[in-house]
Amino acid sequence: FSTVTVLGIPFVKTTADRLLATLQARIVAEQNTFVVTANPEIVMYAHEHPEYQRLIRNADYITPDGVGILDGAKILNQPLPERITGFDTMHALLEWAGREHRSAYFVGAKPEVVATLKRTLPRDFPGLVIAGIHDGYFDDDTAIVADIQATQPDMVFAALGFPKQENFVAQHRHTTKGLWMGVGGSFDVLAG
Ligand code: UDP
Repeated sequence: FSTVTVLGIPFVKTTADRLLATLQARIVAEQNTFVVTANPEIVMYAHEHPEYQRLIRNADYITPDGVGILDGAKILNQPLPERITGFDTMHALLEWAGREHRSAYFVGAKPEVVATLKRTLPRDFPGLVIAGIHDGYFDDDTAIVADIQATQPDMVFAALGFPKQENFVAQHRHTTKGLWMGVGGSFDVLAG
């Protein structure tokens, strides 16, 4: 995809559907992938924190997760087709994973949210292989990362809020051959 740079962040110029097809193909091909769905808060934070901006710019795909970013691109005369949110991307990947019996690992959110997800994920995404689920309140991520490495999930979703989730993904993404993405508060939404 070509990109449009808004406030130092290169956004992919594509639709949610085309991005999804690309992510699925990369998972099938066992290509390690880092996706950032950047909302305006993330863009502003990156603008003020160069090391975080560098880390995000190392992602394979950065999507515009907010109309403010679409507006910025329009002002630059380089319009982006549509907003691509973390929740929608994760949800679409999970539905596909269910159909294809692919696996996902979930790290993040509060223990009670995780308890709910353990019940609802198998119901909501039949066929999905749940490689592991861990809450996002830990001091030491060694055991979690070891579990991710051992289970080799097709996808790892990190719902730790930013910048924590991107730091976690950037640090550990190469322990698997799959897709990694930060999804903010998406587990809370998924759990209802
Ligand atoms: N969270 C977590 N560990 C932390 C801090 C936050 O797992 O140390 C979770 C929190 O429970 C919530 C998500 O990360 O599910 C962040 O949600 P929020 O909407 O605050 O983040 P944003 O979407 O703005 O990045």
